[in-house]
Amino acid sequence: MLIDTHCHLDPQYFPEGADETLSRARSAGVIGFVCIGVGSLEQTEAALALAARRPDVWATVGVHPHDAASCDALLEAELRRLANAERVVAVGEIGLDFHYDHSPRDKQAQVFRQFIQLARELKKPIVVHTRSAPNETLQILSDEKAADVGGIIHCFSEDKAFATRALDLGFDLSFSGIVTFKRALDIQEVAAWAPKDRILVETDSPYLAPIPLRGKRCEPAYVLHTARFVAGLRGVPLEELAEQTSQNAQRRLGVLAVLN
Ligand SMILES: [Zn+2]
Ligand SMILES: [Zn+2]
Repeated sequence: MLIDTHCHLDPQYFPEGADETLSRARSAGVIGFVCIGVGSLEQTEAALALAARRPDVWATVGVHPHDAASCDALLEAELRRLANAERVVAVGEIGLDFHYDHSPRDKQAQVFRQFIQLARELKKPIVVHTRSAPNETLQILSDEKAADVGGIIHCFSEDKAFATRALDLGFDLSFSGIVTFKRALDIQEVAAWAPKDRILVETDSPYLAPIPLRGKRCEPAYVLHTARFVAGLRGVPLEELAEQTSQNAQRRLGVLAVLN
């Protein structure tokens, strides 16, 4: 039994609707889904509506660093209101992406800080997206006292030094399909080494399908492949890794998976 702690299930990615996709995941043993509500107000509302309708789905609310440039006071106010909802288990994904630079870096940093402040007000954990900005990300988490609420470094793709600092700041490490890629040696090292009560698994669907499904549209069922790979790295049975990561998700996000 696994929990996919980070998936995007928006209609634009799954035009046939999320239910079929989630049925396939449940058949594969994935019993809980954290649906990331970013992109636009419409997309955030869709994530919340899905979580309101299905007891095995929870939502997050945030502004992806790609979209930071479009975050004005009006949108922030709307998202603040939505983030308060009971089924919203975290603020995110928020962070810095200096690889794509879809939004100006100073604006990314400003929005990141604003939403950490919101998470602290709401006492909800944070889901962090970080790419090509390791030191800047850690600096902001530290400046803004993100440790007060902690959270998750999603789609972990940094090295052991970063992992050590993130763990110290109260952030768990979530592994996506990237960990299964051949050249991901640094990430594999961290996945093998990190404390067992601080690791999670996710798909980040529709992106980053794990090997052996790389290149396909990723969906929550595929988290099984990532979990099996991480279990192999750690030398533990898949069942043990699944139980541990689900417990971790429950502790970190308060998601109580529904069995039937
Ligand atoms: Zn991300
Ligand atoms: Zn994501």
